[in-house]
Amino acid sequence: MNSYIPPQSNDELISIVARRRNYLGLPEFDERVLDVMKQVDRADFAPRDAMENVYEDEPIKIGNNQTCSQPSMVAAMATFMDLRPGLRVLEIGTGSGYSAAVTAELISPGGHLFSMEIVTELHEFAVKNLQSPKYLQYHCDLLEGDGSEGLPEHAPYDRIYFTAGVGKYFDEQPLLKQLEIGGIFLYPEAFGSLFLLKKTPGGIKRSDMRGVGFVYLRGKNSGFD
Ligand code: SAH
Repeated sequence: MNSYIPPQSNDELISIVARRRNYLGLPEFDERVLDVMKQVDRADFAPRDAMENVYEDEPIKIGNNQTCSQPSMVAAMATFMDLRPGLRVLEIGTGSGYSAAVTAELISPGGHLFSMEIVTELHEFAVKNLQSPKYLQYHCDLLEGDGSEGLPEHAPYDRIYFTAGVGKYFDEQPLLKQLEIGGIFLYPEAFGSLFLLKKTPGGIKRSDMRGVGFVYLRGKNSGFD
């Protein structure tokens, strides 16, 4: 008989993630990222009715037609951004708060994360999830609102990343303005590429990784008609 048993623990999930090779062209994920993901239990960020699949390396539904990203994607994005203690980071698309927790831990001590969520219910869900004593120590501000043009009030940032995909009319400029020299801006298209932009004294250096799918960015600068 061929009865499939889904992974049963967060450690099992992270060992599945760790075995992936060439995910978005990465030979492997940063070890430090994987260690942090062992500490951030994905079950702490899943709605009750999604518990059955919580340790699968797949997106999970979090309500309002949104998803908690695939753990391999969270690991890849954190690896690409080279998140280190002390950095100031802006995340657009808090969702469940899962990727926020991974980022906040990676930039501790000394770092600061600002994370924006446009859907009130999800903002409240993330606030509740991150209120657990395990995550309370993070320097993390969760804000409700449209982050498609960033958050100029608290700029500049060392890293800016989107967890929702942009459309073809998306304007990078407001985000690049909020980035430090030496900083990285990482954002996906809804269907297509994940773009990695580095701001150097000589200009913007750009690379792209193909073949990603994300939920649609909303708001003023979503880039959709
Ligand atoms: N990082 C999240 C993934 C959430 S999916 C997690 O780990 O759970 C992307 C999220 O982006 C959704 O919650 C969606 O509501 C949010 N979003 C979409 N457009 C937005 C915008 N303009 N500003 C802020 N959040 C936005």
